[in-house]
Amino acid sequence: MSTAGQVIRCKAAVAWESGKPLSIEEVEVAPPQKDEVRIKILFTSLCHTDVYFWDAKGQNPLFPRILGHEAGGIVESVGEGVTDLKLGDHVLPIFTGECKECPHCLSEESNMCDLLRINTDRVGMINDGKSRFSINGKPIYHFLGTSTFSEYTVVHVGQVAKINPHAPLDKVCVLSCGMSTGFGATVNVAKPKKGQSVAIFGLGAVGLAAAEGARVSGASRIIGIDLNPSRFEQANKFGVTDFVNPKDYNKPVQEVIVEMTGGGVDRSVECTGSIQAMISAFECVHDGWGVAVLVGVPNKDDAFKTHPVNLLNEKTLKGTFFGNYKPRSDIPAVVEKYMNKELELDKFITHTVPFSEINKAFELMLAGEGLRCVIRMDT
Ligand code: NAD
Ligand code: ZN
Repeated sequence: MSTAGQVIRCKAAVAWESGKPLSIEEVEVAPPQKDEVRIKILFTSLCHTDVYFWDAKGQNPLFPRILGHEAGGIVESVGEGVTDLKLGDHVLPIFTGECKECPHCLSEESNMCDLLRINTDRVGMINDGKSRFSINGKPIYHFLGTSTFSEYTVVHVGQVAKINPHAPLDKVCVLSCGMSTGFGATVNVAKPKKGQSVAIFGLGAVGLAAAEGARVSGASRIIGIDLNPSRFEQANKFGVTDFVNPKDYNKPVQEVIVEMTGGGVDRSVECTGSIQAMISAFECVHDGWGVAVLVGVPNKDDAFKTHPVNLLNEKTLKGTFFGNYKPRSDIPAVVEKYMNKELELDKFITHTVPFSEINKAFELMLAGEGLRCVIRMDT
């Protein structure tokens, strides 16, 4: 029986207030409006960005909210004007969009769509500013336009990548944020040349995907920096050749890296969200040609401080969302890379839990244990 055009009642994990465990509730999900699609989420995984907006220590507290942005699912119904997606399509919802019409979407260089670029404070849909989720008539906020911690969600068509229906959604769901973000930050933005050295700050899933990007680019040396020593064991499998724990030294880690590389690394990619690590990632690159790429999401009040002479000395500072990929145009081909065994994803998925145990995924991330935890919606 078709549910198109009707309100769907289903389970969602609602964050009622900052830092409190999510609670599984029955929510009502309104039908998709103009340029929107409703998606049945099958698998979703937890990214550190969800945790920042859940504990809301360094971000605006916006509750009650349905978090979640790394996921895979199947289109249940489409709203008015949607022509390139249909019922049954396999899709990845993406936290930053692509309208295909604005100057950014028409530019080869940018993925910062004017209409659909990441907006962490938006709590409703673009069409009417309202939420499609409610409990007893009370609206529940959206997050990043994706809100994947729900059995059904409504997403703007510009934030949906249609992928190969044979791709296993329990694996490729991690391409909808973390793995594409880290891998793309290296191959699309830092662009190391064969034989160069690359420093990766933060060896969580995003950082190790960045390391994977360095490995396939032919980097000669991949230096992993993390405060959590347990990260170093698994990082071997991702091609990381050297490990530095800033806690082991009584001088700034950028100085340690400059010394161990005889002048600095050729490229660095920061995947921590720590402002201190961002500054170190910039200052540890070689003068004359070094490029640093920031990926971590900072606190809302952070400020980046460095001496301008670092820039005069021709160190380049960049940053990127989603590894500079355009979600609709580029992600289907990244999924094909996985299908053709040119990209490994399985090793990033260290835990799986049923939806009823979603809070366990938060506990694991807060403890710095494992990489991605995939949450199965069907149980
Ligand atoms: P994670 O928690 O799994 O990994 C982060 C790692 O950084 C941890 O191992 C932690 O020990 C380490 N770390 C923290 N502070 C550090 C410091 N000062 N020095 C060295 N290491 C430090 O998180 P994740 O899911 O891999 O995400 C990493 C970051 O990327 C987060 O900030 C997340 O919000 C951000 N992110 C950005 C984008 C984007 O498009 N720019 C997309 C996804 C995630
Ligand atoms: Zn993410």
